[in-house]
Amino acid sequence: MTHPWVGADENALPRKELSPPVDVEPPLHGAGGVGCNACEHEPDQWDLYEDDLWRVRALHQDMTFPGSAMLHSKRHANGIADLTPQEAATFGVMCQRITQALLSREAGSPGYGDGRVGRVHMHFWGDGGEHFHVWFFPRPLGYLDLRGSFLVEWEELLPPASEAELLAGAADLRARLNR
Ligand SMILES: [Zn+2]
Repeated sequence: MTHPWVGADENALPRKELSPPVDVEPPLHGAGGVGCNACEHEPDQWDLYEDDLWRVRALHQDMTFPGSAMLHSKRHANGIADLTPQEAATFGVMCQRITQALLSREAGSPGYGDGRVGRVHMHFWGDGGEHFHVWFFPRPLGYLDLRGSFLVEWEELLPPASEAELLAGAADLRARLNR
């Protein structure tokens, strides 16, 4: 698998101009809770954990790294700024819980490589859906090219895991989160 970040002649790379700013930005997905996928959630095989405030789901569409997951607030919160004090206080606990669960995978666990996880990357982008959500990616142990922000770039380039592999990764993480 090759990648585009080294070896290219910099002067030959196409340049893209920064577009001028718009006056009014387009609405985010599910703005105001209308047509929001997270609010309209129906339980399915990708659910991993749920309590009064939080839901954790396995990411399963064209995902390379089994065990990749998303944390959602149960309530429609417009990003982190809109969390209640109780949600804000338990958010860190949930992040730690998901991270510890992924880090505890032993060799032979479902996952990329031998299953073990070097670090867990959390990504909190806010330009897709309005409903508060955070991405968790298990960075496979030993794959140094995958360190840092390149992990999600590689995630787009490497072949996706099979559904069976993603289901196995989901089952493994579900068991670890509910211990
Ligand atoms: Zn929502």
